[in-house]
Amino acid sequence: MTFSYSMKRGALLVLNSGSSSVKFTVFEVDPGEEQIMPLFSGQLTGIGTDAHLSAKAATGERMADESWAERDSGDVPALLPSLLAWVEEHLPPDLPLLAAGHRVVHGGANLRHPAMITDHLLGELETLIPLAPLHEPQNLAAIKVLADNRSDLPQVACFDTAFHHTQPRTSTTYAIPRHLTDAGIRRYGFHGLSYEYIARHMETHLPQLASGRVVVAHLGNGSSLCALNRGASVDTSMGFSVLEGVPMGTRPGNLDPGILIYLMRKFEMDADALEHLLYHQSGLLGVSGVSNDMRVLLSRDDDNSREAVDLFCIRTAKEICSLACSMGGLDALVFTAGIGEHSAEIRARICGHLKWIGVDLDKDLNKDDATRISTAASLPVHVIPTNEELMIARHTVDLLTMRNAA
Ligand code: AMP
Repeated sequence: MTFSYSMKRGALLVLNSGSSSVKFTVFEVDPGEEQIMPLFSGQLTGIGTDAHLSAKAATGERMADESWAERDSGDVPALLPSLLAWVEEHLPPDLPLLAAGHRVVHGGANLRHPAMITDHLLGELETLIPLAPLHEPQNLAAIKVLADNRSDLPQVACFDTAFHHTQPRTSTTYAIPRHLTDAGIRRYGFHGLSYEYIARHMETHLPQLASGRVVVAHLGNGSSLCALNRGASVDTSMGFSVLEGVPMGTRPGNLDPGILIYLMRKFEMDADALEHLLYHQSGLLGVSGVSNDMRVLLSRDDDNSREAVDLFCIRTAKEICSLACSMGGLDALVFTAGIGEHSAEIRARICGHLKWIGVDLDKDLNKDDATRISTAASLPVHVIPTNEELMIARHTVDLLTMRNAA
């Protein structure tokens, strides 16, 4: 890729906008130095109930921990101008805000790369709302608010689906009538920015892994796994929506679709009721009846919490084997995201189901969240902290510098 370094030094805002929260990271960018450094990050949570801003500098020092309840008129877009003003007030005086990069959950079948926001692109993204009705509208609302408030600010959309476009059709196709596949009912895959970050990290720091067959387990509040063959996605556990795959905080993962027909007939559940059940009441929360947070479940001693954890671990191990099959073997396993990076207990339990394929963790390395946590004789198992925000920042700078070159 050729770069023009005419983009000046400044700050870049990366936004991940949800229905009741906005996560943000501000980077210093200096394309001339090929440098992207985090300055500060934070989140606006509880929007619509009890809005709260928290932020800290990259050095760890707290910058905000304050209620925004009096500014909260109920939705994310209404609060974004205040957040933008807060960010600009906290920028160093010599670092003007140059651009914004957004995490956008769905890029559909056509958007294979990050893209500059234009009216045309926004129109195309709006047609994808039915594919991700809970997430896409929030992502697009944030883009529109920024465009209305700062029309001079270039904006870039980075799609969670884009990284999976390298997959073969056998990974993306459901066994349903072809006209439905042609209408877009296919497997798209998500968490692509996380997998792309891990693939690039391995290329630089673990080249022997990068050239092999790796399953990456992104285990957080939302969880999925990806089969990376020589750094390219060949299969993943999430499909048409973010519901498929392994059990998550509040989502069930794979279900027999017959259950949905049964629930509609027997309990007269409509689309909204099913959506609520599948997105908000299932997974770890549904099975435990207690919490969607793995830390809480691991600290408890009741049968339901134990069963939720057991289910999460065996289903994740089974998914690892399934993805290995898509690559004809497995050379390494990588854990990432909240649970994957921080829970030695869950990593040990998942790997306990994989002894028969040669996985053997080193107890001490695992306890220390070391980079490589397996014994010398084992199939290599690594922990690599993900950084989706940095991936978005890199894409944004790449696109802006190329645009300036044109
Ligand atoms: P993420 O979505 O990647 O931010 O991950 C958030 C989830 O990670 C939380 O809901 C917790 O369940 C989980 N998590 C974070 N730290 C730990 C930990 N030390 N042990 C177990 N689970 C953790």
